[in-house]
Order: sequence, then C-alpha cells, then structure tokens
Amino acid sequence: MGVAPHSLRAVSKEGLALVTNLRPGRPVHLHLAEQIPEVEEILAGYGLRPTEWLLDNAAVDRNWTLIHATQMTDDETIRLAKTGAVAGLCPITESSLGDGIFNGTVWQEAGGRWGYGSDSNIRISLVEELRTLEYSLRLRDRGRAVLATRNRTTGRVLYDAGLDGGATAAGRETGAIRAGLWADLVGVSLQNEVMVGRKDDTLLDSFVFAGNDGLIKDVWSAGRHQVRNGKHLDRDRIVSDYLACITRLQDKM
Ligand SMILES: [Zn+2]
Repeated sequence: MGVAPHSLRAVSKEGLALVTNLRPGRPVHLHLAEQIPEVEEILAGYGLRPTEWLLDNAAVDRNWTLIHATQMTDDETIRLAKTGAVAGLCPITESSLGDGIFNGTVWQEAGGRWGYGSDSNIRISLVEELRTLEYSLRLRDRGRAVLATRNRTTGRVLYDAGLDGGATAAGRETGAIRAGLWADLVGVSLQNEVMVGRKDDTLLDSFVFAGNDGLIKDVWSAGRHQVRNGKHLDRDRIVSDYLACITRLQDKM
C-alpha cells in the first residue's frame, strides 16, 4: 500500500507533509499540473507553479508517481525527471479531457521515467495508451518515431517505460522476467495479420501501433493464469454483475 493525496488543490500543505510520511519507501501518487487552470490556481495560492512548488516543498524521489504532469516548462520537466519520480501518463484520458501534451521528449532526454494509467476509464486499452503518447508528440513536433532511440524502437521504448514505471507506481516487484520477481506475464498471439513475420522489437512495434488488446491471449498475475484464450476467468460474472448494477442505478435515477 501507498498513499495518494489527489492533487495540490485537494490537500493542505500540512496534510501533504503528513500523508507522504505515512508509508516510507512505498508509492506516493499525486496528480500534478494536469490543466492550465490548476497551474493558475496554485500560482495564485502558493506563488509558484505546481511542479516548482512540489519540488521545493516535498522530498520527491523514485517512490513518487506524478499523474499527468502535463503542464510543465522545460526547466520543470528536467528538474522533476532528475528526481527519479515516475510520470504517470494517461494519454487517452488526457486526450479526452483536452489536457495537453506531455513534454515527453525533454523528459526522456533528462532520463525521466514514466508509466501508464487509465485514470478516467473512458476506455481501457494498453496499446492505445502507448501509441497515443507517441502520436501526440509526433503531432506536436511534426516528426516520426519521436521516442525511439539509437538502439531501441519506438514500441520497445514505450513498452519498457511502462514496465519500469508501472512496477514503481504499483509498488510491486515486477516489470521483468527474472528470478525473484513476480511472474506478471502477458501472452500475445503471433498467428494473425498484425504480428505475422515480425521479430525482435518489431513485434512490439506492430503490437503497439497496429494491434489491439484482443491480441492478448494470456495473462499471468503473480503466476496465476487469470486470462486464458483471451478471456478473464471471471469475465462472465464481472460483466453480469456490472450490467445488473448499472440497471439498478438507472432505475433509481
Ligand atoms: Zn485524473
């Protein structure tokens, strides 16, 4: 378990200091600088922009995950990246809400870490989160393969970031296939028109940019085989409970 004071607007300075010391060494999640009005409110209230204020007033380190972190100057981006904190990006939500574009290139260049979350849950799709991040930067910078590096393809960069950032955000010993870590594994089908003929990192490129979540055939969580042949073991029960719940709520409205 960790702590998640929602944002600088939702917690007092004293409250923030209190909760971030409740669970030493465990994850701290905080929404940061998501939209312009938030930046303006914090600036008006505290005299600094949210990222500046946080860096000056909290011991941000590798246990922290800053959700969105959209509205950052280059200087703020570099300073925050250097703390080792994870940027918890939610590109589908940020698109849906019109938040803006994460300063991904400057963040990456400064050695920044990042992961992905679904936030508003308007749509849950792993590959769509990843490609939306890259595509937003392509549109902003009018470039291609913006996050790719000399040795790593775009798909590889996007996916690896999620493994590292996701493990930190979840406070979980995971993110690689290695002795001592949890066996959190995803099995992707290769016998289809998207993945056929691909190998090495181009498998990830095709999965992320041309694929969809239907390509995921198996998921093991801590070694437990939870998704088999594309279906979660409890899917039928979960969906029927959900439908019943929504129907019940609607009847009361
Ligand atoms: Zn949010």
